[in-house]
Amino acid sequence: MTNPVNLLDLDLDGLAAFCEQLGEKRFRATQLFRWIHQRGVADFGQMSDLAKSLREKLAGHAHVTALPVISQHESKDGTIKWLFDVGGGNAIESVFIPEDDRGTLCISSQAGCAVGCRFCSTGHQGFSRNLTTGEIVAQLWFAEHFLRQHLKTDERVISNVVMMGMGEPLQNYDRLVPALRTMLDDHGYGLSRRRVTVSTCGVVPIIERLAQDCPVALAVSLHAPTDELREHLVPLNRKYPIDELLRTCTAYLAHAPRDFITFEYCMLDGVNDQPEHAQALIALMRQHGADGLRAKFNLIPFNPFPQSGLVRSPMPRVQAFGKLLNEAGIVTTVRKTRGDDIDAACGQLAGDVQDRTRVQERMARRRTVVLYPVPADAAQRKVVS
Ligand code: SAH
Ligand code: SF4
Repeated sequence: MTNPVNLLDLDLDGLAAFCEQLGEKRFRATQLFRWIHQRGVADFGQMSDLAKSLREKLAGHAHVTALPVISQHESKDGTIKWLFDVGGGNAIESVFIPEDDRGTLCISSQAGCAVGCRFCSTGHQGFSRNLTTGEIVAQLWFAEHFLRQHLKTDERVISNVVMMGMGEPLQNYDRLVPALRTMLDDHGYGLSRRRVTVSTCGVVPIIERLAQDCPVALAVSLHAPTDELREHLVPLNRKYPIDELLRTCTAYLAHAPRDFITFEYCMLDGVNDQPEHAQALIALMRQHGADGLRAKFNLIPFNPFPQSGLVRSPMPRVQAFGKLLNEAGIVTTVRKTRGDDIDAACGQLAGDVQDRTRVQERMARRRTVVLYPVPADAAQRKVVS
């Protein structure tokens, strides 16, 4: 064996193959996987039911390394946002959103994004690179085990994961799927498929692959009822127009864990929020509804950032738009803005890290306070704000 492997990169099958390479029985992988993901242990020496010889072998060939935390901010409403260093001056963000009976973690799939949607600060930032499986999983691994200590509980804290942070998850598919499998695995995080949501701007052929490989809940960022308008907002629409996208969504339902697809619609003042847009959307949904598409809409009030040149729709207009859809029988909700005071709302993620020089400066300053790599006792450390 050559370079040590970060075990966060491997789903259970991958870990079993790795154990075999080490000359160990596959079932050892299950024990190891549980230590890492269920108990948050990174130090092989602490894995008391593994033979000493295996622990020594592991120490020579593997490691469990999360991402360095650049900063952590806690909102008044309990939302927590972490900025993680992924090297080369790039940073990604994850957000924990506590609600009555659940805890949702919003995680990133890429540093930046190549799609370039007009209303998205990640899109404006451009594409830096795909995250590895380990970097996707590390966000959950760290957050779950940090929060258990922070909230002083042995119970699972994160009940839902949404891939709605930075990046287009379906443009990083090969790394995404093992990460999803680790989230779903009973020996990992044991999340049900309905509690793991992939959000996509509509990469049609990859939605088809997801349906076969790992059909979790699907959210599709629609934002417009016509190709002309959608192309303007989501450039990928030129490649995969609305009709094709919606037909693919209908086919996905045969595999999906829920009996509807969630459509996200970012409300932009004067752009896509008029009654005629709602009417066109209703007509579109009726047309595809006749073919079996079942949909719920989530209206997201636009979170402005300086370079966008766009404005959030006034709340009464968002409500009126939702009312038209609901009256037409399309279940529509308006997304509550959470973590506003810490810039953790949709599309605001890493809005403040576009200047890479500044990121590097901040990292250098903050690494003195936040330990690297993130230790299991991170919760006892000081929170940087
Ligand atoms: N790339 C994926 C997932 C990440 S974006 C996708 O586009 O679906 C997650 C959600 O945040 C998307 O629905 C996106 O449209 C929305 N979003 C992006 N920028 C936003 C902003 N400035 N205000 C409100 N929502 C935004
Ligand atoms: Fe990328 Fe999603 Fe932002 Fe569009 S909205 S630029 S697909 S992260």
